[in-house]
Amino acid sequence: MFESLSERLESAFKQLKGEGRISEINVATTVKEIRRALVDADVNYKIAKEFTDKVKDKALGEKVITAISPSQLMVKIVKDELAELMGNTEVELDIKANPTVILIAGLQGSGKTTFSGKLANFLKTQKNKKPLLVAADIYRPAAIDQLKVLGGQIGVEVYSEPENKNAVQIAENAIKQAKAQGYNIVIIDTAGRLAVDEVMMTEVANVKAAVQPQEILFVVDSMTGQDAVNTAKAFNDRLDFTGVVLTKLDGDTRGGAALTIKYTVNKPIKFVSMGEKLDTLDVFYPERMAQRILG
Ligand code: GDP
Repeated sequence: MFESLSERLESAFKQLKGEGRISEINVATTVKEIRRALVDADVNYKIAKEFTDKVKDKALGEKVITAISPSQLMVKIVKDELAELMGNTEVELDIKANPTVILIAGLQGSGKTTFSGKLANFLKTQKNKKPLLVAADIYRPAAIDQLKVLGGQIGVEVYSEPENKNAVQIAENAIKQAKAQGYNIVIIDTAGRLAVDEVMMTEVANVKAAVQPQEILFVVDSMTGQDAVNTAKAFNDRLDFTGVVLTKLDGDTRGGAALTIKYTVNKPIKFVSMGEKLDTLDVFYPERMAQRILG
């Protein structure tokens, strides 16, 4: 994950090796390298610049600490700033309500349905919950089957109404059933389109208005870089979601989405998904991610 970014940062820090102390000149060269590395990892230039300006100020503002070398100092400053950019501390799901309704939104192919299965499995096995999965994609009958297969694999019930073309009704009926049958989590997998469009946005906004979910998770493919960030903005403007799920971090992803979504929409990344197996859902820890990027 983020190999290229990690390597580039490492080589930027190397420039400080052998330097006796931090100076205007050596910091300037290093932060320039860091900025280039970030931009090449798909971080928007403005964010990259702001980031390196902060790093530079911090580095030059540090008192000379003899126990730590300039390159070690720079690694520490960059690590702290990366964690800060991604939100610093993890943010947990709000699952106190009974039932807790979790709406899953995102583009088609982002990994929504796979994530819905992973989340149901996570809540069942790690949080001792009884989830109900809801297939609310009224355009793709195959989506219902896909969710049923996933539900079967993890032993979680799937609610669907294959003949009903009203997503709001399906969601409302599912919640009624959940209440009647003692499910304490309702995960609604909504329809996705290949691009942000008005019909999809209106539909998911209507479902939100009708069921008042405690959590709205926006699922996005981390491999799509800046597009991921732009899509997040469009969904957040319309849905005011409560958290982001970054998928496909197991793939050849450069890092831009993970690094800048929180900054752009001011919503936490709550989970990352790294594979198709249903037991691989990970809570997102900004500090651990920063540490990982720096190797
Ligand atoms: P949806 O259209 O948003 O519901 O997306 P799907 O859940 O159907 O996922 C689209 C494709 O991406 C499928 O082939 C999934 O197996 C795959 N996929 C989903 N999540 C991940 C992930 O974290 N890593 C990888 N490598 N593939 C994933």
